[in-house]
Amino acid sequence: MTTRSPVVTVVGSINADLSAVVQRHPSPGETLHGTGGEITPGGKGANQAVAAAKLGGTVRMVGAVGTDANSEPALLELRAAGVDLTAVDEVPGPTGLAIITVDAAGENTIIVVPGANGAMDAARVTAARAAVEGAAVVISQGEIPRDGIEAIPGLVPTDARFLLNPAPVLNLERSVVLAADPLVVNEHEAQLVADQFGIASSGATAACTALLTAGVRSIVLTLGADGAVVMEHGSDSVSIPAVTVTAVDTTGAGDAFIGALALKLADGDPLVDAARFAARVGAYAVTGRGAQTSYPSAGDDLPA
Ligand code: ATP
Repeated sequence: MTTRSPVVTVVGSINADLSAVVQRHPSPGETLHGTGGEITPGGKGANQAVAAAKLGGTVRMVGAVGTDANSEPALLELRAAGVDLTAVDEVPGPTGLAIITVDAAGENTIIVVPGANGAMDAARVTAARAAVEGAAVVISQGEIPRDGIEAIPGLVPTDARFLLNPAPVLNLERSVVLAADPLVVNEHEAQLVADQFGIASSGATAACTALLTAGVRSIVLTLGADGAVVMEHGSDSVSIPAVTVTAVDTTGAGDAFIGALALKLADGDPLVDAARFAARVGAYAVTGRGAQTSYPSAGDDLPA
């Protein structure tokens, strides 16, 4: 009998990222000069898949790219990291595109044009059932259509965890949010999800506490340079301090965190331990430019 290595399956977006570096972000109607202009691989789904795979995980991607020239750069790091792309479809039209600006302080703005990611509806996700079966952790985000995400919990094996990162926040069926274990949100997303549950809260931590009371099984609230908070039913919340580093570019830090978190959960680590490791990976990611290109590989020294 062979021992199955735990599989992380990511159902989500694949983008080409077009990046520019600016001194400061332009105001509406303003034109500024920038540098950069490279097209690099991105998309929250692909970022999270690459993060887990570069760290040594066995990762499957469920997604779609277009028939344009951007599909190859979009898949570059997924291929290099050894992610199984059997369930990545090619659909007519453009590959998803993200237009990113990073200012001198390392803060970013992002415009996402969904392109082929818009084809990831319930029928296409359900057709990729084989990629979800056997997974120990199944991840999704908010960059594919709502009905595609809503089809996932019904496919997740009963002994597997569904990690939902509602970024951006869609108006998902409540049962889908309640199936998350964990729900991974930043402060903004926490408050939006709470709003959708009809919860009036003051602040993200209060919003998460109320979401737990409403039945969400576990939550990881990420707080950028202030670290993260892990909340689980029946346990006190645990603060995970950020690792102190000099931020160069925060693009994709949240995705690095989630890929690392999923990898450790697939290995059977408790959520708090997985989050501590993920914070080190998130910190590593902000010290380099870009998203996937800034992620650590197994064996790289992580900040502690
Ligand atoms: P994004 O959407 O920009 O990728 P996010 O809002 O989803 O990010 P963040 O909370 O910014 O996610 O970052 C995720 C995790 O990465 C944080 O919880 C923290 O552990 C780590 N991290 C982010 N920024 C920094 C930083 N400047 N210094 C150290 N760690 C950081």
